[in-house]
Amino acid sequence: MKLHEYQSKLLFAQNGIPIPRGRVAATASEARDIANELGGRVVIKSQVLVGGRGKAGGIKLAKSATEAEELATQILGMTIKGLPVRKVLVDEAADIRKEIYLGVTNDRAQRRPVMIASAAGGVEIEEVARTDPDKIIREYIDPLLGLRNYQVRNVALSIELPREHWRAFEQIATGLYQTYWKTDATLAEINPLVITGDKRLVAVDGKIVLDDNALYRHADLAEMRDLDEESSQETEARKYGLSYVKLDGEIGCMVNGAGLAMGTMDIVKLFGGSPANFLDIGGGAQADKVTAALRIILSDSKVKAVLINIFGGITRCDEVARGIIIALKELHTTIPMVVRLVGTNEAEGRQLLADANLITATSLADAARKSVAAAQGQLVSPQPAA
Ligand code: GDP
Ligand code: MN
Repeated sequence: MKLHEYQSKLLFAQNGIPIPRGRVAATASEARDIANELGGRVVIKSQVLVGGRGKAGGIKLAKSATEAEELATQILGMTIKGLPVRKVLVDEAADIRKEIYLGVTNDRAQRRPVMIASAAGGVEIEEVARTDPDKIIREYIDPLLGLRNYQVRNVALSIELPREHWRAFEQIATGLYQTYWKTDATLAEINPLVITGDKRLVAVDGKIVLDDNALYRHADLAEMRDLDEESSQETEARKYGLSYVKLDGEIGCMVNGAGLAMGTMDIVKLFGGSPANFLDIGGGAQADKVTAALRIILSDSKVKAVLINIFGGITRCDEVARGIIIALKELHTTIPMVVRLVGTNEAEGRQLLADANLITATSLADAARKSVAAAQGQLVSPQPAA
């Protein structure tokens, strides 16, 4: 789960990282009021959960409260990378002399957190990483020891940070690691961390990505989720406890078990198709969950066929069949569906589905072949389940 810039910066501030004064606004007149409070020179920043807002025109400097209102009107009318801007952050404008990159993330290969820094921070950091990887430095952190002071000094030295800023930098680096650690984040990033004209270090931008699997122990952070920024499918999937990841293909997959779901996606590809999603309905799914899953899959207009692959262990095939029948009554879809049910109560499940207009398959290869054909519009005659 991604946090907005304004949310990330509040967490930074709680951990001793200096941030600009500012507040979030949902209307242009609120933005004007905030700009007035801050003395007029402000930066208006779109709050959308994507990077590169600056380049997209979603970050603008205003010299007065009136201009702040105008720019806020503009930015609140924008759509950035498909996301409508619903809020802007109005921050006191910083007098920026230098932009530094500082982040902490998980390094899976090293099995530890890593602090990443660069003297070439700002909006071109991805480009720097590509063309000039030596300008990105990494300091691996022992999770049992935490970030040590000598490591912070290593980082400061490597990015050639002038000595006068070291004390402030140490507080910021430590605060960033703390934020990352305490929130169970997978990323905590300041880009840019700026040196101002009056020689202060300030976190001008902030980004935090939280580990969804750890959210259960952070009720306060879970509440920060912005449902407006999430696709309705994701919201619905979470409500029913389904693991759903949208992909670009045309074959919707409904499977129980993450491993089987991955295997199903692979075999769909093997037969020349491409999966529209990953969806694990989990063990022991009841009819309502199955219905929700099909509803989610079919709400994707790219889906040309659905492959339902259920291995009945704890999950009962007849429960799944009931869910499919309810879903079909509700959805009136013409999308062809291929069903493969094996395992617990498979005979009952097939019996229930016998009257529905579904294509059945016995082996997984058969199911994949039929769904690829169906997605390509080739006729696969539905046969009553044996
Ligand atoms: P991003 O494009 O989504 O990463 O948004 P940022 O918050 O990082 O802003 C992009 C760029 O806008 C920064 O790298 C700065 O160059 C510039 N910027 C952001 N805030 C200020 C500010 O207060 N003053 C000035 N002069 N520039 C700013
Ligand atoms: Mn940024």
